[in-house]
Amino acid sequence: MEASKEHSNGEVTIVWKAALCSHSGNCARGLAGVFKPLEKPWIDPSGASTDEIVAQVSKCPSGALTIYYNKDK
Ligand code: SF4
Repeated sequence: MEASKEHSNGEVTIVWKAALCSHSGNCARGLAGVFKPLEKPWIDPSGASTDEIVAQVSKCPSGALTIYYNKDK
């Protein structure tokens, strides 16, 4: 498994580090349109607004999810 995966909606990029994920399910419960554990790829950045994605990523308890604005890279 890759150490980390990135998914961009053109404005922001969601970074997920598999090794840190505690599989709490917070992300899927909080934003089901983006975080879909039963699908591959399981993160669909087109499923919600950038603001919703940023807010949900900040609630990841393990630090597995982080985000950066594409203009900053
Ligand atoms: S909220 Fe974070 S730790 Fe929980 S399942 Fe999602 S990515 Fe993993």
